[in-house]
Amino acid sequence: MAGDAGDGVVVRNKQVLLKNFMVGSAKESDMELREGTISLELPPGTEGAILVKNLYLSCDPYMRGRMREYYESYIPPFQPGKCIEGFGVAKVIDSTNQKFGVGDYITGLTGWEEYSILTRTEQLRKVEILDVPLSYHVGLLGMPGFTAYVGFYEICSPKKGDCVFISAASGAVGQLVGQLAKLHGCFVVGSAGSADKIELLKHKLGYDEAFNYKEEPDLVAALKRYFPKGIDIYFDNVGGEMLDAALVNMKVHGRIAVCGMVSQSAVSYPKGITNLYMLVTKRLTMKGFIQSDYLHLFPQFLETISNFYKQGKIVYIEDMNEGLENGPAAFIGLFSGKNVGKQVVHVADE
Ligand code: NAP
Repeated sequence: MAGDAGDGVVVRNKQVLLKNFMVGSAKESDMELREGTISLELPPGTEGAILVKNLYLSCDPYMRGRMREYYESYIPPFQPGKCIEGFGVAKVIDSTNQKFGVGDYITGLTGWEEYSILTRTEQLRKVEILDVPLSYHVGLLGMPGFTAYVGFYEICSPKKGDCVFISAASGAVGQLVGQLAKLHGCFVVGSAGSADKIELLKHKLGYDEAFNYKEEPDLVAALKRYFPKGIDIYFDNVGGEMLDAALVNMKVHGRIAVCGMVSQSAVSYPKGITNLYMLVTKRLTMKGFIQSDYLHLFPQFLETISNFYKQGKIVYIEDMNEGLENGPAAFIGLFSGKNVGKQVVHVADE
């Protein structure tokens, strides 16, 4: 505690700021830690806002896009010198908002800082499911879990017996897609970038097969080995060479859900895909999606996935980093595959 300012106790507020717009590979030095203070009472006259203590912050690949000076996207860039934001779980300390009371847990976009004043409360959700780890509300029961749910059920048109391939298969999104596909009666193969991740895919997440793409000199041949009769569904998290190799290996009438292209995040000029003609010859459907277009399905997602979890039908792997000061390194680690499972930063206990 830093002292008492009369209107409210004043405490330290560490923040992570964007220092420079990022060029090329994401670097920790493009972010910086600043220490300020904050009163634990909302300023007089603040209407419809909440003051929260941030407990968990989510590291998500899309945040890299917000660290570019200009890019055409569905969400605006961060501003240099300002605190960055991301999905988090937080506890309400003070409120002038009818929807959220003191002591409630909320999830949604918050600041990368110890305490935040949140005014765009329409994008926040009160955490109602409290018999799972709180951090799951930025993972399994949050945006990545919802992405897996929407991507698999709405975009992939899955059928029992389908042959499903998932890249970045052990990550926040991929690990749930694989488990949903198994529950649906599919044959499921994942790719990931380390021996530990392959072990998890096969022995903890229930994938039928998994391979380390970094050890495969020929990705087309690798996919042929696992799918001799072809792929019905490719859930693409990485784009680039893997997408090109998957196109060649798709079955006629196969479906490709384009969820993300993390392999392209550091390149200024993405390498072209050479096998797009397969869309014609194999009559493929390839569809990009953004989870936020499907928010009307969020209540049914929460119910379905929390029940699967409580019934022991699915598990969820998190990679928890301790302390806001370790947030930038945790975020950067997403782009070299350092994270094993959903990358979360634990900022504070309740
Ligand atoms: P994640 O998989 O937990 O973490 C990123 C992983 O990407 C890393 O662990 C790494 O795993 C892999 N990776 C990094 N650089 C790579 C490269 N050059 N080539 C291949 N793989 C690479 O992340 P996530 O949150 O689940 O996100 C997965 C994808 O979904 C991302 O593309 C993200 O942008 C996208 N996404 C889309 C939506 C949507 O609404 N469309 C929503 C959320 C996320 P390996 O060790 O396996 O390489």
